[in-house]
Amino acid sequence: MTKIQARLDAVRQRIESACRQAHRAPASVLLLAISKTVSAPSIRDAYFAGQRSFGENYVQEGVEKITELADLNLDWHFTGPLQSNKTRQVAARFGWVHAVDRLKIARRLADARAPDLPDLNVCIQVNLSGESTKSGVSAGEVAALALAVRALPRLRLRGLTTIPEPTDDPALVRGRFAQLRRLLETLNTDGLGLDTLSMGMSSDLEAAILEGATIVRVGTAIFGSRTAADRAMQ
Ligand SMILES: *Cc1c(COP(=O)(O)O)cnc(C)c1O
Repeated sequence: MTKIQARLDAVRQRIESACRQAHRAPASVLLLAISKTVSAPSIRDAYFAGQRSFGENYVQEGVEKITELADLNLDWHFTGPLQSNKTRQVAARFGWVHAVDRLKIARRLADARAPDLPDLNVCIQVNLSGESTKSGVSAGEVAALALAVRALPRLRLRGLTTIPEPTDDPALVRGRFAQLRRLLETLNTDGLGLDTLSMGMSSDLEAAILEGATIVRVGTAIFGSRTAADRAMQ
């Protein structure tokens, strides 16, 4: 077993044990392997250990790996912040976009999505901490954006994404996840029928699962730590 395969097993066990604690079925949580800065052979390695869903943060890098790994049946999610001049490539090559935070981006994705492809799954990113450097709409802006995105063709609005602020306080992190869950519940009370909470990473996936995460985005715990140069790019 390779190192990546062993780490993948360990992450799966963490997910299972959090699901047990939350009285949830393990199949209700999708493990999205965040493969930004990770080489195509390492992704192939994870594939041979049963991993199918991968998340990329940089358009160019992601498209190159998607092309290189086209012989595998993989699900590709775009998890990074998206600039409007990159929407065409993302709409052509990915199945999901996790960080829609303005209508302009959603419109461009809808315009670019080919009608013969399945609808593009999208989540709205919510910036709950109010950090000015981070993308995402505020909690108060979510409902209006959700309604507008939902009205667009060729997109399927699935739910919400968040990344809590960096902190050593696990209660704060869990509180953010709870906030996102309540926001989703409110939207669903208004009839939006959303089924996705994309939240939780290597360090906090358990808290996210306890608060209802349906997609956890895990990089380091599967592929090892990224280099300092890579981190600077994020
Ligand atoms: C890098 C990244 C992750 C994974 O973070 P880890 O701490 O390495 O698990 C998850 N989500 C997004 C949006 C990221 O950019």
